[in-house]
Amino acid sequence: MDLGIAGKRAFVSASSKGLGKGCAQALAEAGVDLVIGARGKEALEATAEELRQAHGVSVTTVAADITTAEGQAITIEAAGDVDILVTNAGGPPPGMWSDWNRDDFIRALDANMLAPIALMKAMLPHMMDQGWGRIVNITSQSVKAPIAVLGLSNSARAGLTGYVAGTSRQVAGSGVTINNLLPGIHATDRAVSLDSTVAKAQDISVEEAAANRAKTIPAGRYGTAAEFGATCAFLCSQHAGFIVGQNILLDGGSTNMTL
Ligand code: NAP
Repeated sequence: MDLGIAGKRAFVSASSKGLGKGCAQALAEAGVDLVIGARGKEALEATAEELRQAHGVSVTTVAADITTAEGQAITIEAAGDVDILVTNAGGPPPGMWSDWNRDDFIRALDANMLAPIALMKAMLPHMMDQGWGRIVNITSQSVKAPIAVLGLSNSARAGLTGYVAGTSRQVAGSGVTINNLLPGIHATDRAVSLDSTVAKAQDISVEEAAANRAKTIPAGRYGTAAEFGATCAFLCSQHAGFIVGQNILLDGGSTNMTL
């Protein structure tokens, strides 16, 4: 399917690895020129070169911490006017409800609620002025059903989801769509980190922890960054202009619910 977005310009946040990289790859495959961001320069430059080589699109990089006001300012300046925005950042650490203090919540809110809101606020006006734009926020399945040990994530992402629910309806009339993509467990560094915590707690190997987790997923496996990215690119396509304010779950069926 031709996604109809060749020649558009996108900023993909936190995209040197994992799900963000999957989104950048799928957009590049659709012919979209990219600005990609992450903190670590080495992996970021390697990903940029990989995308240029594979897809022949223009890829520029911005190395900054997207969770800080300074990092956001540097990023917004480097990204300039874009047609497509994919927001993303690292996820908060797991723990118990009794572990977290105000500073932990502020860090989680900065990363998983306020950073995407800052990017949207900066990049929406151009999209609205030109009458076309696409925004996809990478959130989590924890928005639909809580993951108890990820209380910081449950809380911060619920805030972003509420913001998107209202804002998407305020901007839809200008030809701009905002939607959220909710990953269940996907085979990335983040999954290895979560499985390592389980492995340590249960005194088993990381591989065993991953195999046990995969058995709980109806699809019987972890998702891939490539299939996540393909869904993101579709949401950014010409075909997705009537999809507004939705929370789309990619979890292999693991969230057990009817609707
Ligand atoms: P990942 O494989 O660990 O990749 C994270 C990417 O984000 C890297 O490129 C990293 O590069 C960048 N990044 C992290 N913190 C950043 C920051 N402060 N500023 C700028 N860039 C930053 O993670 P992932 O699995 O793709 O997860 C992406 C998001 O989806 C996370 O919020 C995660 O919690 C959520 N999620 C993932 C899963 C899953 O199974 N993978 C499930 C549910 C939700 P640098 O470290 O160099 O900055």
